[in-house]
Amino acid sequence: MKYHKDFVILNQKVNNQKLVYLDNGATSQKPMSVINSIEEYYKKYNANIHRAHHYLGDTATEMYEASRQKVADFINAKSDKNIVFTKGTTEGINLLSTCLSRMGYLKAGDEVIISAMEHHANIVPWQLLEKYLGIKLKVLDIDTDINYLDNNKNIEVVAASLKLDKLKELISEKTKLISIVHVANSLGLINPVKEIISIAKNYNIPVLLDGAQAIAHLKVDVQDLDCDFYVFSGHKMLGPTGVGVFYAKEDWLDKLPPYQGGGEMISTVTFEKTTYQVSPYKFEAGTPNIAGVIGLGAAIDYINEVGHDYINKQEEELYNYLLARFKEISELNKVKILGFSNNKVAILSFVIENLNAQDIGTLLDQYGVAVRTGHHCNMPLMDYLNIQGTVRASLSFYNTKEDIDIFIDALKKVIKILLD
Ligand code: PMP
Repeated sequence: MKYHKDFVILNQKVNNQKLVYLDNGATSQKPMSVINSIEEYYKKYNANIHRAHHYLGDTATEMYEASRQKVADFINAKSDKNIVFTKGTTEGINLLSTCLSRMGYLKAGDEVIISAMEHHANIVPWQLLEKYLGIKLKVLDIDTDINYLDNNKNIEVVAASLKLDKLKELISEKTKLISIVHVANSLGLINPVKEIISIAKNYNIPVLLDGAQAIAHLKVDVQDLDCDFYVFSGHKMLGPTGVGVFYAKEDWLDKLPPYQGGGEMISTVTFEKTTYQVSPYKFEAGTPNIAGVIGLGAAIDYINEVGHDYINKQEEELYNYLLARFKEISELNKVKILGFSNNKVAILSFVIENLNAQDIGTLLDQYGVAVRTGHHCNMPLMDYLNIQGTVRASLSFYNTKEDIDIFIDALKKVIKILLD
């Protein structure tokens, strides 16, 4: 409740109803301090970075590079040199897939292991290499376990977890990379990434973690995780859209060739020979999203002020409240909760028997409630679970119990309308 007021967008009516935003998994809302930081950049020191030798350029460069240090501290990277700014998680994964093939590390016949829980952003870049380079994609399967919540036959809960014991069977001498989602976006499950990294290390296989969802909820420590690569997006962690982070260990940053060519990433250019900047600048061709990077820095300041202890406690409390109230839905119809686990972030993904998720989402919007419906860019996972899609309510620490009450009351009305 304490922080709700900082998110002014929430202080409005949608369809004549109080706005309740439960689509944080798609993108989070932004506190005023982030919005102000972007406005301030454009109003007070808008200039291009790194090259200009004037007050505005120096200030913009200082602020841009200060954000790099903030990101490094935020994820406990060894140095700000490990932090490459991208436009988001998707670009971070594409950067790696492109650079690994360009340097010849990935060749025809090599294998990359992903999981059945991946977002399309961690599937399609590797499929492109399957198609155009001839690598092979292998998929770590999931286990599902079906139960009833509190023995209530109207609430089926489906636990899903990666088949960790199968990972060793998938690994071969051709395996060159394991690329896994830290927190699965449609189910909210926290994957056992430390165990995966530990197994991968035994075979000397580097690991990329897709941290798009994790970064909004968990305290991420890349040195403790000991992953080789970690990617995330600013917009899911209170920052602006169009900015993200590609973290890599130093030896990889030295070995990887440039991603895109252009200004900023070069040291010298002649028609005979061009030399490149050192990392991370080698990977940041062209004018970057300066305002976005500065906004991301402001988002990190805000999260640090709130603190992960508060975020975790608040989100856990809200999720438990949501789950408790969700049980009331079973009085109206059979429901199924997907991704049921004690080890998850505050995401509730569900299916109401015989009702279409999209219809539910569209009608909830009439009550001012924003949720996400559909396959959540997880089409293969939906196939594994044998469903078309889910309704997903994804919470943030700035949501309130009142939001949840409005959501559940609206959901009851929507179900009644659709069953009529
Ligand atoms: N991976 C996961 C787990 C995600 O949730 C998302 C965003 N839904 C992405 C990747 C892609 O992020 P972006 O669209 O910001 O690049």
